[in-house]
Amino acid sequence: MKKLALHWKIIIGMILGIIFGFLMNTIDGGKLFTTHWIAPFGKIFINLLKLIAVPLILASLIKGVSDLKDISKIKKMGLRTIGIYITTTLVAIVIGLSIVNIAKPGTGMPKDTIEKIKMKYENDAGVVDKLNKANATKDAGPLQPLVDIFPSNIFQSFADASMLQVIFFALFVGICLLLIGEKKAKPMVDFFDSLNEVIMKMVDLIMLFAPYAVFALMANVIIAFDDTEILLKLLYYALCVVGGLFLMVCFYLLLVSIYAKKSPLWFLKQISPAQLLAFSTSSSAATLPVTMERVEEHIGVDKEVSGFVLPVGATVNMDGTSLYQGIAAVFIMQVIWPEGLTFTNQIVIILTALLASIGSAAVPSAGMVMLVIVLESIGFPAELLPIGLALIFAVDRPLDMCRTVVNVTGDATVSMLVAKSLDKLHEPHPKEWDDNYEDV
Ligand code: ASP
Repeated sequence: MKKLALHWKIIIGMILGIIFGFLMNTIDGGKLFTTHWIAPFGKIFINLLKLIAVPLILASLIKGVSDLKDISKIKKMGLRTIGIYITTTLVAIVIGLSIVNIAKPGTGMPKDTIEKIKMKYENDAGVVDKLNKANATKDAGPLQPLVDIFPSNIFQSFADASMLQVIFFALFVGICLLLIGEKKAKPMVDFFDSLNEVIMKMVDLIMLFAPYAVFALMANVIIAFDDTEILLKLLYYALCVVGGLFLMVCFYLLLVSIYAKKSPLWFLKQISPAQLLAFSTSSSAATLPVTMERVEEHIGVDKEVSGFVLPVGATVNMDGTSLYQGIAAVFIMQVIWPEGLTFTNQIVIILTALLASIGSAAVPSAGMVMLVIVLESIGFPAELLPIGLALIFAVDRPLDMCRTVVNVTGDATVSMLVAKSLDKLHEPHPKEWDDNYEDV
């Protein structure tokens, strides 16, 4: 008997969660019930994914690097990865800026709508929190992100799940394993190889729970929507972001078919469980274990490539986020600071959105925090910042869900391109339990 493919199960869970959320919105006490009795299951799922993210990066990267047998290959892979990441992010920002300048979603927004949004969200805890976080990031100084890559206590890095620090440590260990020679390195390499297998199995088991978790996550998102009127007013802006994100995915698919010589539909099918989780969790970091599993076992990218490209990408490559930042920054200017809309400012946005995408954490709504820094870089008046953020706050969550899908798809695409260029893209070998699941 044919069983339903995993992505279909997740989609069904998602749709039922949305319906359930809307239903709970109409029932007295429905929101509270969802918060207390449904949402925790989504949280458990995210906790489990986060639980395995750090050991997974550690194991796959140490094993991967020590398999490379040659330090110059690491340099080659590193340079290619960073080069392609920067290029795709620049493409994303240019797509975003082109759309917002052509469609002009912020021009002509009625004064009373702006007033209404201002009243409702200017002092909202979410907006204040983003501004505070942006200030803290800015106060740390321009080279702080570089300093932050080098840990002083690796257990602290594990505890904080500081991806770049864990990646640095794993690379360091992997390179030293190469340097001490195969015989001495073998016990440790074998250990990490085995750990990697165990964690991959954990991903399989956790994914069995995914359709139910996605139900809970979506229900929890839906009960947070309360003001449909404002949502409708921001629909044109939201459509511009979604349209840009869609174009970005088309660009990835073009790369997949032209360079990697794989069918775009096949690629989408293989990666879809990770995309669906990115959509439901709004976090590339939480999705990382699933992205790695899909890319390694279902797309056929070698561990040494995926173990490096994907964790680095989840942390520094956020094409969806930078595309969104370009559109959001110009939209806010169109509404409340049209005099700032100069060509020079748009060029500055391209550069700062690129840096902001590297600096954004792979967690929900991090893109909005870094947007503050993008706006400040073009001299956006500080007193207008709260209202600027208030303008886009109501639709941030759904847009966050969509841009996270693009962030994850971008990482998967780049890992495929890097693997292809290094001759490390093979026939995939999906695991046994998955073989029983076929499309319907
Ligand atoms: N939520 C996004 C991610 O995790 C980051 C953002 O754009 O807010 O990739």
